[in-house]
Amino acid sequence: MHMAALGALAWWAPPLGGALPWVLAAAVAGTALALAVPALAWRQHRRDEAAQRRQREALDAMQSAVLLWDAQGQLVFVNRDFLQVYAAVAPLMQPGVQFEEALRATVAAGMVPEARQDPEGWVQRRIAFRQNPEGPLLRQMPDGRWRRIVEQRLSDGSVLGHSVDVTELVEARNALALAQQEAERARQRLEDAVEALPAGFELYDAEDRLVMVNRTALQLYPQLSDLVSQRPTFEAVVRANRARGGLPEFTSDEAFEAWLARRLAERRHPSVPQLRQMEDQRWLRVHESRTREGGLVGVRIDVTEVMEGRQAAERATQRLQEAIEALPEAFALYDANDELVTCNQRYRDDYPSAVALIQPGMNFEDMLRHCLAHGQFPQAVGREEAWLAERMQAHRNPSGPVLVELPGNRWLRIDERRTRDGGVAGVRTDVTELVHREQALRALNQRLDELNAELSRLSETDALTGLANRRHFDRRLADELSRASRHGGSLALLMLDVDHFKRYNDRHGHPAGDACLARVAEVLRATARRPSDLVARLGGEEFAVLLPQQTPAEALALAERCVAALDAAALPHGDSPVAPHVTLSIGAAHVQAPGSDFKPVELLRRADAALYLAKQAGRHRVVVH
Ligand code: GH3
Ligand code: MG
Ligand code: MG
Repeated sequence: MHMAALGALAWWAPPLGGALPWVLAAAVAGTALALAVPALAWRQHRRDEAAQRRQREALDAMQSAVLLWDAQGQLVFVNRDFLQVYAAVAPLMQPGVQFEEALRATVAAGMVPEARQDPEGWVQRRIAFRQNPEGPLLRQMPDGRWRRIVEQRLSDGSVLGHSVDVTELVEARNALALAQQEAERARQRLEDAVEALPAGFELYDAEDRLVMVNRTALQLYPQLSDLVSQRPTFEAVVRANRARGGLPEFTSDEAFEAWLARRLAERRHPSVPQLRQMEDQRWLRVHESRTREGGLVGVRIDVTEVMEGRQAAERATQRLQEAIEALPEAFALYDANDELVTCNQRYRDDYPSAVALIQPGMNFEDMLRHCLAHGQFPQAVGREEAWLAERMQAHRNPSGPVLVELPGNRWLRIDERRTRDGGVAGVRTDVTELVHREQALRALNQRLDELNAELSRLSETDALTGLANRRHFDRRLADELSRASRHGGSLALLMLDVDHFKRYNDRHGHPAGDACLARVAEVLRATARRPSDLVARLGGEEFAVLLPQQTPAEALALAERCVAALDAAALPHGDSPVAPHVTLSIGAAHVQAPGSDFKPVELLRRADAALYLAKQAGRHRVVVH
């Protein structure tokens, strides 16, 4: 730093001329030192030893080399710095040595790298230069350091040589040049990049003047081509655009001026990117931002394709929404977070209490809870939380349609499906009519079942007496026989016939005969009372009693009780040779563990045979087969 300051001082020292004594100004360690060394006076005042010593000491103290040659080219004086720098030739540098001799010795000592190629030529050029100095010399020393050499011819023909180490200066200058080159390359790269941008690029300076614009911007705004060399302001660019027929949307000057004022204000504080549509319908996205120097960078990106894509998507969404609205059913789509994406009017109609709530983003469970609180779901009344849990489970993991009741006995069939992105799409069909019809059908079926049961009861019942009829009796007989055959059980059969009933009819008339038969039936039913006993009317005045799991003695006892019970009933006959009242004859048969080939008709035959015997034997009795 210190050397550089000294060098700079020497560099800028004004040339000395005329009869003026030469003056060397130097700063050494912050001290200003002024020396006056007139060449001729050097010899004239040699006796002034003290003054000379002081001057010499001062020159030796300098950190630059100083030599003085007389008009004949002989060395008069050399200071210490020179002798240190050119140490190899120091012994030669005695007063009186010739410049050319000293020069050749210096070259020979290898002190001048630039002379190595052509030492003699270099020496000649150096001598010529000395005759006619053209300014300072810059020389590199063998150790790589640089010195600046100035030779000054004084008025008496003597030559003052001065050389100073300027290595730091030279290196700083080289570094500066390198940095400038690098900066230039960077600027070029930046310019190339800006030029290659697929976006329009404009740079305005702090006065809002256009300083840079790339090819894409010129294509977007052709009027810029003519203007760019004039460094127009943004405002001038816009006005030129309008003058050329651009910005046709502004039909009046007022509208244009208002817009321009707004636009200029906006440029002072650019914020969000803006979308602009060009006359050719293309869309630009305009980003403006302030540079650090107060300028403005405008980047314009053609987003026509994106916009067209977005518009197409919007149209598709619109069509989809229309289609959803046109559905004959209520439709709702929930996303993976169970928030409503879209639904149609029919869906809103299904949940009138939640209609204010039904907006995109509404949570499905929130809606259910709201509807529950408003009694929207009759099925849930009294068990709201359980109902909600079931409904949510079915909604998140749909596995088939769900039937939900709405107030007023309305019914919805909810068909939900998972979408690919984890949402749920649901279609709700009003199935009120179907459900009502199904309910009616179910009621009808139940009535039908009842009627069928009644019919089958009737088909197996004797109309006159209410006892089992022949069909019923036959079925039970077959069943009981096969059961007895399977389990080794027993079955007894009584065949009963009213005695002299023809005469009864003849005496009392047929309707009275019917009434008599009904009374006989009552008596028999009251006598054979076990649930497994079956009393049947086989036809006419013939009855039968089936007695499962009875011993022959038990069967006989029951038969006797029947005869006695009818006697006790004392229904007057009036024309019976047997008794004054209506009497019975009974034939009894019993089978124990019948074989599987034992036929019902066999048991009937046996009982019938016994009955025949009872009639033969005088009636009003029991005969066991
Ligand atoms: P027996 O002691 O030998 O049995 O004499 P019976 O007169 O009872 O014998 P028979 O079988 O010859 O006569 C049966 C009579 O029962 C014939 C008919 O007049 C009468 N009868 C048959 N079915 C009905 C009926 O449903 N209602 C009425 N009132 N009478 C009937
Ligand atoms: Mg009979
Ligand atoms: Mg009879």
